[in-house]
Amino acid sequence: MPVPESFRERCDRLLPGGYQAFFSQNLPLYRGLTVNTLRCTPEHFAAIAPFAVEPSGFCPANFRLKEPNVKLGHHPYHHAGVYYVQEPSASAPANLLGVQPGDKVLDLCAAPGGKSAQLAAALAGSGVLYANEVMPDRAHVLCSNLERMGVTNAVVLNDTAKAIADGFCEYFDKILVDAPCSGEGMFRKEQAAVAQYSQRLVESCAATARQLLDTIAAALRPGGVLVFSTCTFSPEEDEGTVGWFLDRHPEFELLDTGVLFGTTGHESCCVEGKVETEKLRRIYPVHGGEGHFMAKMRKRGQQESVPLAQKFLLKGEKLPKDAQAFFNQLFPSLVHGAFLEGRQGFYLLPQQEIYLPRGLHLLRAGVAVGQLQKGRFEPHHHLFTAYGTVCANAEKLSAQEERCSAYLRGEELAAQNAQNGFCAVLADGFCMGFGKVSGGRLKNRYPKGLRNLK
Ligand code: SAM
Repeated sequence: MPVPESFRERCDRLLPGGYQAFFSQNLPLYRGLTVNTLRCTPEHFAAIAPFAVEPSGFCPANFRLKEPNVKLGHHPYHHAGVYYVQEPSASAPANLLGVQPGDKVLDLCAAPGGKSAQLAAALAGSGVLYANEVMPDRAHVLCSNLERMGVTNAVVLNDTAKAIADGFCEYFDKILVDAPCSGEGMFRKEQAAVAQYSQRLVESCAATARQLLDTIAAALRPGGVLVFSTCTFSPEEDEGTVGWFLDRHPEFELLDTGVLFGTTGHESCCVEGKVETEKLRRIYPVHGGEGHFMAKMRKRGQQESVPLAQKFLLKGEKLPKDAQAFFNQLFPSLVHGAFLEGRQGFYLLPQQEIYLPRGLHLLRAGVAVGQLQKGRFEPHHHLFTAYGTVCANAEKLSAQEERCSAYLRGEELAAQNAQNGFCAVLADGFCMGFGKVSGGRLKNRYPKGLRNLK
């Protein structure tokens, strides 16, 4: 399907050399993956990569695929959360935020979770990521993806920007707003993006993005950093939104992104207020990615994050005796952690204090470890994706062997190393999930919705 005429005309008007120079038909469709540095370093991944990849240059952990037809989502390393499938330019915004271990980070529009996975990896298990998604179905996908990546210190919320801003006044050190947009950067790979496109969509997305920024500004502490990004090129949604926001919020200043890839923002008639467009960053297909826009802003001043009321602190407790027995046997290093009991079982809270202001819709805090059923502890998949490599009982597979493929199809297998009882199932040392051994057979506990279809 050809791109909309109005889009092409705008590109011809704004871009040196016009549409053809930035979207040449000879450019390949870009696919990529971002290595989960909670699992291994990008260098290690490059050495063991099962398909031909090259660094994309948009983020140190992101690689561009050199082969067009690889099924990235089927490989055991994907199931084990070694990488997240992420189009190269989409890896750029999270990296601009400069997240450090110990930070309190909010990802406001987080599903399906590629950028949240990057933010969690940057925290390296210390600090906390609040990953929020307003659409309930998408929020569950976000939960599942952070689970696959083995994230231990995320709080997954399903709420509005207003509810979060009301609850977390001047609390966060870093905020990412990867706003819903008209998706012009998806035109080359998704026909649906072209089909649903209209000027009305551009205008409504610009209005939503502005409202989200306007609302969530209050949740950032003075001195904190906010990155705003879209995967579209329309100046109304991009430069226009940044200009509108800076006009309304003089407490914010635009920072240089500090990166050299892509190109600067456009001086355009759509820009309301003065924006230093040289500080903005755009990636077009000619730069090696499908398309992203990003702006980095700082709240002026310097202040510690405002503490939340103690009554909102999530307090963990000791596990009941029956659950302790399970942990003493398989995860002794975790047994003394702080566990929160919820409707679907116990959650192992991260070391960092977690606050949850009243009324917010919580999907998960920390690691879902399992639940007691008739006095027996039934572990959760998340316990193994997060801590499977320290489990005292493990079935160690090679990613190349047939038993590994069988495990990911949900089949029962012959156990060769694991003893009777629950065990982690590893592929080349990366944990994919768990099973239960009895009489030399490993009963499959890999979640049905995640299995590779035959
Ligand atoms: N950051 C995500 C990632 O890297 O995987 C992609 C986010 S996507 C561009 C924008 C998200 O914003 C969508 O999941 C969408 O459901 C959500 N969204 C839509 N309207 C919203 C609103 N009014 N407030 C907050 N989020 C919204």
